[in-house]
Amino acid sequence: MKQQLDKSPEMSMDIFGKISGHEQVVFCNDPSTGLQAIIAIHSTTLGPALGGTRMYPYATVEEALEDVLRLSEGMTYKCAAADIDFGGGKGVIIGNPKTDKSPALFRAYGQFVDSLNGRFFTGTDMGTTMDDFVQASKETNFINGIPEEFGGGGDSSVPTAQGVMYGLKATNLYLFGDESLAGKTFAIQGLGKVGFKVAEQLLEAGASLVVTDISQESIEGIQSKANAYAGNVTVVSSEEIYEADADIFIPCAMGGILNDDTIEKLKVKAVVGSANNQLKEEYHAKILHERGILYAPDYIVNAGGLIQVADELYGANKSRVLLKTKTIYQSILDIYKQSELDAITTLEAANRKCQQRLEEQRQRNNFYSRQKSPKWTFYK
Ligand code: NAD
Repeated sequence: MKQQLDKSPEMSMDIFGKISGHEQVVFCNDPSTGLQAIIAIHSTTLGPALGGTRMYPYATVEEALEDVLRLSEGMTYKCAAADIDFGGGKGVIIGNPKTDKSPALFRAYGQFVDSLNGRFFTGTDMGTTMDDFVQASKETNFINGIPEEFGGGGDSSVPTAQGVMYGLKATNLYLFGDESLAGKTFAIQGLGKVGFKVAEQLLEAGASLVVTDISQESIEGIQSKANAYAGNVTVVSSEEIYEADADIFIPCAMGGILNDDTIEKLKVKAVVGSANNQLKEEYHAKILHERGILYAPDYIVNAGGLIQVADELYGANKSRVLLKTKTIYQSILDIYKQSELDAITTLEAANRKCQQRLEEQRQRNNFYSRQKSPKWTFYK
């Protein structure tokens, strides 16, 4: 066997070097449905891996692998931060979500998920919908984030928006000594599922808004809410949002928006939003820190949706989800205080908290077999 391996053709990529931080990477291939997918399990230290499955027309397999490795590692931190007993995992399906989807493809994907026998739970992400996972759930129980009619928790943007609101209140308290949102101005980028709900709650609380969205429908929607609440909404372009005269910037659209170009334009005192991967690079947390702009780490603020999908596996319960989402308020405050105390960025403070939780669980795992632990047994 050893000899055979030595003679194997040279790989263009050092696969094992690339996945060295991960426990398991599974390539799924089903020619009959056209399914090509990769599932990455980064860590099951805290419990079975949990993470959505993205569908995207990746140009190369390497690009898809890169994405799934990065995203699954992020999930380990996100679960650790939200005090959820799940580990980090993610799936990517290579294909165009507009043209390459079929029920059969998602059923095939469900079979691959099932073959992992509970090491990986998954649901929707960019490019996939709850309906896709209703198909996948015909083949496996290890699916979450499905509609309430199918036993799921429903729309995850509701708790995600709730978490952003807790993050905003905590930030207000930290900055101004008062959590009240009335009379403050918030700049919102993206009025989609999360951003729109946050915008409406802010108007209801008596705040003023500066907003941007590429969708005219969303803009008109928030303008009509502003009339209903007699609130103040100023619409600006995608570029102008960074220089808005506001107290807090709320990114709720795409990632990478805190970068070398945009940070220097910001006039706000804090950034608190739902968008994933807001920092283009980790060093941008330091630039924000040096500029005296408080940054609420995205993976702490936007954990509401994750809290809901994780909760679903114990039997969906909305009040339990809300109670847990409320902990985002204290987590954010703790991170701000730790960052101040240790003179480190808020991102470092958050990462340290996660590493500590992972280390504590590693110690416990030395004494108990993870596979036999009751927390690996779910209602499904
Ligand atoms: P969404 O697709 O419903 O909304 C995104 C909005 O941003 C849309 O209205 C879109 O028109 C707008 N947009 C896109 N490009 C823009 C641009 N250049 N300038 C201004 N607006 C632009 O997505 P969502 O579910 O509301 O999620 C928003 C962000 O939060 C995403 O980054 C997502 O990954 C993250 N997030 C969402 C959830 C959830 O539960 N939905 C959970 C965690 C994180």
